[in-house]
Amino acid sequence: MIELINVTKAYSGKLALSGINLQVQPGQIYGILGPNGSGKTTMLKLISSIIKPTSGSIMVLGHDTVTENNVVKSITGYVPETPALYESMSIWEYLRFIASVRRVPSGQYEKRATEFLKAFELDETSSDYIGNLSFGTRQKVAIIAALIHDPQVIVLDEAMNGLDPRSSKILKDLLARIAERGKIIIFSTHIMEVAQRLCTRLSILYAGKIVDSGTFEELEKKHSEGNLEDIFLKVTGSEDLDPTVNSLAESMRE
Ligand code: ADP
Ligand code: MG
Repeated sequence: MIELINVTKAYSGKLALSGINLQVQPGQIYGILGPNGSGKTTMLKLISSIIKPTSGSIMVLGHDTVTENNVVKSITGYVPETPALYESMSIWEYLRFIASVRRVPSGQYEKRATEFLKAFELDETSSDYIGNLSFGTRQKVAIIAALIHDPQVIVLDEAMNGLDPRSSKILKDLLARIAERGKIIIFSTHIMEVAQRLCTRLSILYAGKIVDSGTFEELEKKHSEGNLEDIFLKVTGSEDLDPTVNSLAESMRE
């Protein structure tokens, strides 16, 4: 499992996360929700061993993300919020490069990459340079790169953003199938409908703290709200937005 114990992260002395305790079990699809700046990316980077906690500990399948960061990176597939890819490589070259770093045997790489490119409708464009790709296409390449070595743990930071409906549907269904095989999936999203439908468990972050956690059914019952958007707005103190919209609309008429 993934376990965060009393985790704090500060950037230049300013807290981005504090008092975070979280467990994610194999087979779960865990959703991290929260407004902009609430600490989602920080949490996912900590789990993927990209950054170190200021205090507390993070264990991924029994490995400490600080002292065993190479092991954690090797068993994790991470899709960053804004993927930094090699601009001057073609899609195919880039994926082959990532696969070789990940030590995927070349036969397996060829098969997986071909399947992914076909599924995401990139088979005709696999020789295009990454530097020339649209935002959504780059996102697809980053997703393929994160999954090509069949990682035990999959971490996606707003990876659905920019995906067309076909690719988004394929990714969601694939994640559900991968979770059934006992892998761990954790992702952040602003798309409430995706979180509600796909996640087996959710945590809502607000100002660097987890303000609520549970299955959607548990949260629904607790807050007497029938959809995740309303639960989210309630928990993050944005329940009644009418006065805000009214005064905004007024200000635009003046
Ligand atoms: P989210 O992904 O939920 O939008 P982030 O984890 O990116 O939130 O950011 C949480 C807080 O930490 C924000 O206040 C942000 O400005 C700050 N922060 C994030 N990364 C850095 C960094 N590298 N240096 C300084 N502050 C950062
Ligand atoms: Mg973020």
